[in-house]
Amino acid sequence: MEFDNNLDDHLTENMDVDAIKIIISELLQAVGEDPSREGLKNTPDRVARMYSELLSGYRDIPAKVINGALFDVQYDEMVIVRDIEFYSMCEHHMLPFIGRAHVAYIPNGKVLGLSKIPRIVDMYARRLQVQERMTRQIADFISDLLKPQGVAVVVEAMHLCAMMRGVKKHDARMTTSAMHGAFRANLATRQEFLDNISRGSKPLQI
Ligand SMILES: [Zn+2]
Repeated sequence: MEFDNNLDDHLTENMDVDAIKIIISELLQAVGEDPSREGLKNTPDRVARMYSELLSGYRDIPAKVINGALFDVQYDEMVIVRDIEFYSMCEHHMLPFIGRAHVAYIPNGKVLGLSKIPRIVDMYARRLQVQERMTRQIADFISDLLKPQGVAVVVEAMHLCAMMRGVKKHDARMTTSAMHGAFRANLATRQEFLDNISRGSKPLQI
């Protein structure tokens, strides 16, 4: 597969850590804090370094994430990787949403190394995101990469922006899904996946 990163060029540049430091210091002042007090002295630096980690997905290069772990295999049963823990940041409030992703596909001559699926989830989670888009991006990426008979992604997450702001706490938990190919066309296939991921799953907690 050819990876075309051109569209993402503006996202792959390195983060401007110095600019983030200045802005965080200004933010501390703007909320009425004293950025020079002991506990906050190194906060701008810590936050800047934290963002480059939490938002590292912008700089992930798909070819490196996959790193050649694509294999030709004659296997056409469902492959399911469930309970992939992830941490993301909502783009509306820049607060975390955290949860689990479940990914399935039915191969069409190619399979992906097992450890790569969590890496793909991370690549899209470690950005400013909305859960619906993240779910779709994971499914689309696997679709483009493997051209499988079908792909399904279900993401369950708790949103701190809803929980902390005490708006409607029952809305803090959200489930989204993206179904392609056989998972969309065939009810039994979709149901097999949904049954599998609900079996023995623990309720989402923070
Ligand atoms: Zn939010």
